[in-house]
Amino acid sequence: MMQVSPIQDGANTKESPRQGRLIVLTGPSGVGKGTLMRSLLQRHPEMYYSVSVTTRSPRTGEIDGENYYFISRSKFAQLVADNELLEQAEFAGNFYGTPRQPVLNHIQSGQLVVLEIELEGARQIRTSFPSALSIFILPPSFSELEKRIRSRGQDSEEAISRRLTRAQEELNAADEFDIQIVNDDFDTALQEIEMTLFG
Ligand code: 5GP
Repeated sequence: MMQVSPIQDGANTKESPRQGRLIVLTGPSGVGKGTLMRSLLQRHPEMYYSVSVTTRSPRTGEIDGENYYFISRSKFAQLVADNELLEQAEFAGNFYGTPRQPVLNHIQSGQLVVLEIELEGARQIRTSFPSALSIFILPPSFSELEKRIRSRGQDSEEAISRRLTRAQEELNAADEFDIQIVNDDFDTALQEIEMTLFG
C-alpha cells in the first residue's frame, strides 16, 4: 500500500494560505463508503461533501438536495452539454455526476472536498485532478459485499445483479488508487481514513 503524507490542515499558516483539496472516496456499491463518509462529515464538519446529481429514483428516506439532486435524464443531458459536471458515469442503468462549480468554489475557499463516487468517475477525477487523494474502500470478501447489497432490500433482483457484476469489475481496479482501506470493522476503517487525511 502506498504511503501518502497526511493532509496538514493545521499547516496552513500566514505564509502558506489554506489549501483546499479534493478527496475521492471510491469502491464498489454496498461496501459502506456512504456510511463511512457520513460519519467522517459528522466528525469533521469543516469538510465539504459534494452532493451529486442522479437520474435514479429516490430510495425510501432519501432527501432531494441532501443525498442527491434527483433529476430527469433530459436535465442530466443538459448539464453534460453545458459542461457543468466535473465527472459523470452511468451506473446500473442510471446516470450520476458531480456538479462542477460548488466543488471548485469550496476547494478555492480552502476546504477539504469529498466526492463519494464509482470507478469511472474516480478515474476521470484522477485525470483532471492529479493532486486529488483517492481512497478505495474494499469489502472483507465478495460474499460479504453481496450480503450487504442484498440486505439493503430496496433494489430489484435485476439491479442487484447489475451491481454485483459491476462490483467485481470495480474491485479489480482497487490498485489504481492511492490508498486501499478494508471496511471490515467500521470504526477501524473510519480511523484509517482519518489517519490518512489528518495524520
Ligand atoms: P447508489 O445508487 O447506490 O446511490 O450509487 C451507485 C454508485 O454511484 C455508488 O458507487 C456511488 O458512489 C456512485 N455515485 C454517486 N454519486 C456519483 C457521482 O456523482 N458520480 C459518479 N461517477 N458516481 C457516483
